[in-house]
Amino acid sequence: MNDLDRHPVYMDHAATTFMKPEIMAAMAPYFSRYFGNPSSLYRFARESRNGVDGARRQVAAAIGANPEEVFFTAGGSEADNWAVKGAALANRERGDHIVTSAIEHHAVLHTCGWLEKQGFSVTYLPVDEFGRVDPGDVEEAITDATILVSVMTANNEIGTIQSVAEIGRVAHDHGALFHTDAVQAVGAVPIDVERMGIDLLSLSGHKFYGPKGVGALYIRRGTRIENLIHGGGQERGRRAGTENVPGIVGLGRAIELATADIEGHNRRIAAMRDRLVRSVLGSIPDTRLNGHPTERLPNNANFSFRYVEGESILLLLDARGICASTGSACSSGSSEPSHVLLATGLSHEEAHGSLRLTLGDANTEEDVDSVLEVLPDVIGRLREISPLTPVRARIPEVD
Ligand SMILES: *Cc1c(COP(=O)(O)O)cnc(C)c1O
Repeated sequence: MNDLDRHPVYMDHAATTFMKPEIMAAMAPYFSRYFGNPSSLYRFARESRNGVDGARRQVAAAIGANPEEVFFTAGGSEADNWAVKGAALANRERGDHIVTSAIEHHAVLHTCGWLEKQGFSVTYLPVDEFGRVDPGDVEEAITDATILVSVMTANNEIGTIQSVAEIGRVAHDHGALFHTDAVQAVGAVPIDVERMGIDLLSLSGHKFYGPKGVGALYIRRGTRIENLIHGGGQERGRRAGTENVPGIVGLGRAIELATADIEGHNRRIAAMRDRLVRSVLGSIPDTRLNGHPTERLPNNANFSFRYVEGESILLLLDARGICASTGSACSSGSSEPSHVLLATGLSHEEAHGSLRLTLGDANTEEDVDSVLEVLPDVIGRLREISPLTPVRARIPEVD
């Protein structure tokens, strides 16, 4: 049976989300009717400018910032690059040391790697078995030369939420700037840049039902940071390029919707996720839940199934109409599994057998039922043919 013609069961919301109709509706006029360049002086361009200004207020309100502290970018990766490179380059005479964690998104990790080539030194903090950074480790890693601490609010693979406010306090106690990649956290973790001691914060529209290719960097007033994109004087001289007006308007509406009722959203999503986790752990032997048992994003379930390979799981799930993801990367030419799972202490085998299911607003209990129906069968079949499966585990103990 080929289920692909039907609506797939989409459980990969950490990769990207669908766009909500009301967000598309908010954007639509800015593609055609209000197409003016926000920088133009005639009255006609004012609508575009108003759209951008309105979105800036919406983003600011969602994170407890002032609108003048919000700068639009072409997504989360650009915001991360800008925060880390910009802060490093602008504060070079004060020091050359950056503290980050081993489980950051590659937009932060590879940026730090590039900065190492430019002569900066970077400490990559370890995490515990649940993926948590110990604020005490941050404190120990900081030296007189530390100019920036960058630790994500919540992890995109295992969903673990960090003690951001505590880490922010430690950074500030030692005179370092604090950046957090909040791309996965917006809409799930209430964010207040004041209370959490955040100087720089990255976010991205397509992770909370907004458009792809548009994001924002929050820059606390007075923070020393170099520009990343040079050219025209847009974004008050901080980020060049004609504004992606429809995208920015969509981002503004999306963040407003995503943060309107975080508690209610989390309750609904976590209830489905918890049932999924309980049933999977209960029905499939030799399975573990990766990430923190409680301090995790409400929509994230990340499992390791012994004796099987993540990409095989994905292919069989895909054939049954289920979209998910894995921390295994065999087909991409690298046999290195997820740096996040390895950092939590998993063996290569366990990391290769990982499956990430991330729920979203359109998922239903029926979607959870579908996964619970298909997954034990998929794992059982793969274990049957896996040379890694010990004899005792060959006959799946399911149903
Ligand atoms: C998706 C993601 C990014 C990158 O955002 P883009 O908008 O896709 O560039 C950065 N950090 C985290 C934690 C993410 O999940």
